[in-house]
Amino acid sequence: MLWYDICVSAAPVVSVSVDLDPVECYFRIHALGGSPDEIRHVILRRCLPRLADLFSRHGIRATLFVVGRDLEEDDEGRRILADLANAGHELASHTYTHPYDLVRLASPRIADEIDRTHAAIAAVCGRPPVGFRAPGYEISAELIDLLCQRGYRYDSSTFPAIPYYLAKAAVMGLIRLTGRRSGSILGSPAVLRAPRAPYRPAKGSPYRRGDQPILELPITVTPWLRLHVIGTTLVIAPEWLRRRLAAAALGSPFFNLELHGIDLADAEADGFPAALVAKQPDLRVPLARKLAALDATLEQARSMGSTFLPLRDAAEEIQKVPQSGSRD
Ligand SMILES: [Zn+2]
Repeated sequence: MLWYDICVSAAPVVSVSVDLDPVECYFRIHALGGSPDEIRHVILRRCLPRLADLFSRHGIRATLFVVGRDLEEDDEGRRILADLANAGHELASHTYTHPYDLVRLASPRIADEIDRTHAAIAAVCGRPPVGFRAPGYEISAELIDLLCQRGYRYDSSTFPAIPYYLAKAAVMGLIRLTGRRSGSILGSPAVLRAPRAPYRPAKGSPYRRGDQPILELPITVTPWLRLHVIGTTLVIAPEWLRRRLAAAALGSPFFNLELHGIDLADAEADGFPAALVAKQPDLRVPLARKLAALDATLEQARSMGSTFLPLRDAAEEIQKVPQSGSRD
């Protein structure tokens, strides 16, 4: 019997996570060069407190995917994260430097990205991370092996979203046509056939079910068309579409809702440069509207009797149920 079968009639478990990509990541993705110094720490210092307020209003403990280097270079950001960990939020690993080509690096470098962040998070909150999310959602068999060897309980990188994959391919192609290089990479299309529900990956094939000890918690996509239901979509979509996407996500037993720190940026007040605002549609949406969209989505989840758990606790619950079969 599957977790899916057991839970299909129960209220969903909802895990809200935030990828705390530093702002320079967005400059890299769009091939805009380096980020200005004045906004270097804007995600942890200005966006994260807004997300923390949102979670506190809804009584949610979230999972915060931290880029390890930030913990060592930004004292104020580190204090904010330590306070949030003390308040019950989970700190998990989003690598040390957020290399988009992580899976193409040599094994010792991949291990170093994991281990340095592991140590930095343990130092900040006294509790080493048990969860991992890869930069740009790209994983490999080697990366999963390294996480298993270190006793990680879950990975939450699989993103089987068809429109996202196609859009990413198109944007990267356009950037190449202009003679520039995006910092991002396009991974294997095998991800598009990955299960939507939590699964144990197969040895050597991280997008297939198997018996690796780690649990893969895919980021939620809709059963139809595999549309992604993540913060960026929710804050941009018109209300009717946002509600439908959230309802589709909440129709599954587990809604793994991924946000990014930048989702609650206030482009003008936070000083984002026009070149980046031109490339990131969510930066052109007023903060109040983005907040309202996320508030309404969490309210919608609550109204269905959802249980909110950090990914660490959701993985614990899901692990208790034997996994088998090939159902999506
Ligand atoms: Zn990221």
